[in-house]
Amino acid sequence: MVSVGINFAGPSRVGTDLAEELLELKRERNAVILAHNYQVPELQDVADFVGDSLGLSYQAAKTDADVILFCGVHFMAETAKIINPTKRVILPDLEAGCSLSESCPPDKLAQFLQEHADKNYYVIAYINCSAGVKALADVICTSGNADKIVRSAPADRNILFVPDQNLGAWVMERTGRTMDLWHAVRMLADEVCSTEKMVTFCRESPAREIIVVTEAGLLHRLRKEIPGKTFIPGPTDNCFCGECRFMKMNTLEKAYDALLNMEPEITLPESVRKRAEKPILRMLELSK
Ligand code: SF4
Repeated sequence: MVSVGINFAGPSRVGTDLAEELLELKRERNAVILAHNYQVPELQDVADFVGDSLGLSYQAAKTDADVILFCGVHFMAETAKIINPTKRVILPDLEAGCSLSESCPPDKLAQFLQEHADKNYYVIAYINCSAGVKALADVICTSGNADKIVRSAPADRNILFVPDQNLGAWVMERTGRTMDLWHAVRMLADEVCSTEKMVTFCRESPAREIIVVTEAGLLHRLRKEIPGKTFIPGPTDNCFCGECRFMKMNTLEKAYDALLNMEPEITLPESVRKRAEKPILRMLELSK
């Protein structure tokens, strides 16, 4: 049984089946509903397609829908927008982010590439990254094709693999190809070198939300000692999307409200979208 959303602007939901209302609204909006494999069952049940982010985005491209309701995390909805520029893309909860994606902000990557221009990096980006990072990449990879994509990289180029250092290290071992890996810790590395310093840094930082790459025990301590701030676990070996709290932020109620109000909407400057599409197309070409 679903509860009544307090910001609901339409007719009363009491005694109604919200899933049915959502499907009715979907028809009115000429929308297609996509749900990532790791979304809650209620959302998978109302979805037209369930799958991984890239597969879903291409499924949507084959439809004549005007609107995509993407039940997943932010970078996935951005990927849908990159591939479906003429469709409006709606995400149930804008806060459904991805700490792995956020560990590599586009401006930091751009700065890094500029500072290391002599390396002439060939940038391979795991798909769990923002549109801004995709726009800076030469090619995208998924966990399924990372091996193939790395093997096909030009032999005379240095490779920078972003943002997942664990996947990067694994692929390096499999392919024997040396790569520089983007470290999530880069953001904090200059400031922090011990546990006590990390706690002090988090307490004194003006940031309200802090990505912390550490073991669960320290996260517990940080949350207890600094209750006014949000600590987001950074990508580690334990970052498993099936258990991701961001994935679970989307609910049937939020999906309904988002489609009703047509927000939050994902928009991208066309120049970024175009640049972000190129490395996706290259990946598709290389993985044929
Ligand atoms: S588990 Fe990690 S990589 Fe997967 S969506 Fe959540 S934060 Fe991102």
